[in-house]
Amino acid sequence: MLDRDLYSQIFGVRPPWIVTDVKLDMKIQEVEVVVSLDPAHETTCPTCGKPAKRCDARRRRWRHLDTCQLKTILAADVPRLECPVHKVVQMRVPWAEENSRFTALFECLVIDWLLGTGGAIAPIAQQMRLSWEEVDGIKSRAVERGLARREPEETDQLCVDEMTFRRRHDYVTVVSSSIESRVLFVGDDRTQESLDGFYVGLSPEQRAAVTSVSMDMSAAYVASTRKHIPDADGKIAFDKFHVAKHLGDAVDKVRRAENKDLMAAGDTRLVRSKHLWLENPDNMSDERWSGHFASLRASRPRTARAWAMKETAMGL
Ligand SMILES: [Zn+2]
Repeated sequence: MLDRDLYSQIFGVRPPWIVTDVKLDMKIQEVEVVVSLDPAHETTCPTCGKPAKRCDARRRRWRHLDTCQLKTILAADVPRLECPVHKVVQMRVPWAEENSRFTALFECLVIDWLLGTGGAIAPIAQQMRLSWEEVDGIKSRAVERGLARREPEETDQLCVDEMTFRRRHDYVTVVSSSIESRVLFVGDDRTQESLDGFYVGLSPEQRAAVTSVSMDMSAAYVASTRKHIPDADGKIAFDKFHVAKHLGDAVDKVRRAENKDLMAAGDTRLVRSKHLWLENPDNMSDERWSGHFASLRASRPRTARAWAMKETAMGL
């Protein structure tokens, strides 16, 4: 025999709800705890709080925390109520969210596990005997609750990044606040529409208050920012990394052209020197810097001039 009072306590079930039955099925390793609403309880509309009569009830089941490794289900006939204003509405239950098939405590446990795995769904699904979709649903509801609780964000200084997703050629666009280092938005893909999705969520005042948008040199992000942010051209800042890459490419273009000319005259100075011109001088050993590379620079080929321009730009 299973103790109804014990289960009342374990579940935190309080009046007007009472545990009326506990069924154990060893074959499927499941405990079903049946909870009923006190018949004398005066029901009210969940929307307006006015008294509302019960018309019928629907049996619903929620997965709860396991008891002694047995899958545990909370079941209740949830009344449907008739409100004079809101017509037929389902009564809310205190142990679960409206559209969830899990109790709040169970969702809480799944979310704790998800935090521990950095959000990876598959191991949790296996551990908790849930489907991938079920864990994903719990995760999505938690994200929704978190977003609903958010205070207005600091959106003056923005940072836009594209990120690959699941090591395939799937991309997402991530917008974060440069000040708070917080993710504000994640959109599918890396197109203009991806970033538009963030900007349209800002009020005109917020858009006008943006002072800088840091990004890579993506034409799509530039177009989206120009479309939504007033005086965007003065506010877009390209990531140093991307600027450095373009400058490095330019230096190498000069080196290759010059090498061709020098080779024609039998001068092999620039052969195999590509990496010297592209390396960050801060990472170069003293020996490299003041040895072969110093004499190359001193011999003043055109490449040395391009290189000096690149280094000056990086210092800006
Ligand atoms: Zn109502």
